[in-house]
Amino acid sequence: MHVKTLILGAGLTGLSTAYHLEKAGQTDYLLAEKESTPGGLCKSQVINGCTFDFSGHLLHLHTKQGKQLVKSLLGANLRRLKRRAWIYTGSARVPFPFQANLFALPEAERQQCVNGLLACAQTPKTAPKNFKEWCLNAFGPGVYQVFMRPYNTKLWGRDPQEMTCDWCGSFVPTPTVDEVLKSAVKPPTKSYGYNAYFYYPARGGCGALTDALTRSITHLSLNTPVTRVDLTRKTAQCKGKTISFDYLVNTLPLPELLRLTGEAELAALADKLVHTQVAVYNFAIKRQVKPFSWIYFPDKQDPFYRIGLQSGFSPVNAPKGVSAFYVELPGDYPHTQAGEARIWKALAQKGIIKESDDVLFSFWQSLPYAYAVYDKFRASAVSQALKALAGRGCFCAGRYGKWEYSFMEKSLLEGLELAKKLV
Ligand SMILES: Cc1cc2nc3c(=O)[nH]c(=O)nc-3n(C[C@H](O)[C@H](O)[C@H](O)COP(=O)(O)OP(=O)(O)OC[C@H]3O[C@@H](n4cnc5c(N)ncnc54)[C@H](O)[C@@H]3O)c2cc1C
Repeated sequence: MHVKTLILGAGLTGLSTAYHLEKAGQTDYLLAEKESTPGGLCKSQVINGCTFDFSGHLLHLHTKQGKQLVKSLLGANLRRLKRRAWIYTGSARVPFPFQANLFALPEAERQQCVNGLLACAQTPKTAPKNFKEWCLNAFGPGVYQVFMRPYNTKLWGRDPQEMTCDWCGSFVPTPTVDEVLKSAVKPPTKSYGYNAYFYYPARGGCGALTDALTRSITHLSLNTPVTRVDLTRKTAQCKGKTISFDYLVNTLPLPELLRLTGEAELAALADKLVHTQVAVYNFAIKRQVKPFSWIYFPDKQDPFYRIGLQSGFSPVNAPKGVSAFYVELPGDYPHTQAGEARIWKALAQKGIIKESDDVLFSFWQSLPYAYAVYDKFRASAVSQALKALAGRGCFCAGRYGKWEYSFMEKSLLEGLELAKKLV
């Protein structure tokens, strides 16, 4: 079998590429997906009337093009929501982002953060060499010790000192020194961060987006794992069949693709790429909780780093009187009774659930690829790999294909751009 374009992986990036090829009248492609359903991480499942994503997947639409595309796909099935998020640290409940809401801290921590920032504002700045130095430059040692360090160590599984800071600009809200200091006295009057408002489908969870894209795609092959890629012969092995191609679009995790080529030099680059895994514990209780979007947990004794309320994103995400939650934990967290008991204990201590709550059901999800780790090897290995692959007609896209910290809007737009290039 020969196709002009072979697309690996039917997550949002692969689906968007195929969707835009079809729109341009190009049907000489095959979209190969190893799972029995498309969508990758942008999928939803309905259990006992509750809709769960693979941990909450909210649409952050920052470009006109992204908004237009999502609106054209979802039409009226789209809601705009205001973020209701905070951080639980010790006994304090601090609105998100932490660094712009110091007023909510107990006196001692507030002083620590303010003094640290004042001292840092008087010190000449040098270019930060790692994420720790970036945080110290932006917020001072107080905010770093009380929130940035413990939270990020939990999320990334390593100390911020072991990470670079080339990803921070878009994802870590950076109020000015003046704004941080003012926030120690009273709440801020403006919202910060890329997710102050977000979009979510009214029905169907984030999977509604996958469904809308899939409806227009004619050459999707499910249950089709790609097991070998030969970039010299331009062939791929999919489910025992050889498919030849002119161009390859890769949305698989970059290290996997590099290893599938069987080329020693590319496999050596794959060995330099590190990622985190995430375990998601989902459950529903028979009580309508006060709505919130998500909550961050920096403290060591809380096993999770973030929880979210699926039923808060849309009223139809759960039956009336039921609240559906997701709990995000480091990937190696044990899916055992003891592991679950630790989660319940911590949730109860924080007052999120009550002893008297009727738990309707719970289940686990595993995300084997969650975050590409920005360590000192990443930038050079990724740039070498993408260059070598592109030179041989293989274009990588998406959060895992490009091995970066990115989000769904970017997946959709990268698919659009790639399709234009291929046409
Ligand atoms: C915990 C978490 C929370 C997130 N929350 C948000 C959020 O709120 N908002 C947001 O915008 N983004 C969020 N994201 C990011 C978002 O999920 C991704 O940017 C986006 O879904 C990536 O889509 P993709 O198609 O590039 O990759 P994927 O969704 O990973 O798709 C890749 C596809 O390739 C398939 N595949 C893998 N190996 C093979 C093989 N050998 N052969 C064939 N197929 C294969 C997989 O089955 C999968 O379907 C979150 C990510 C994580 C981990």
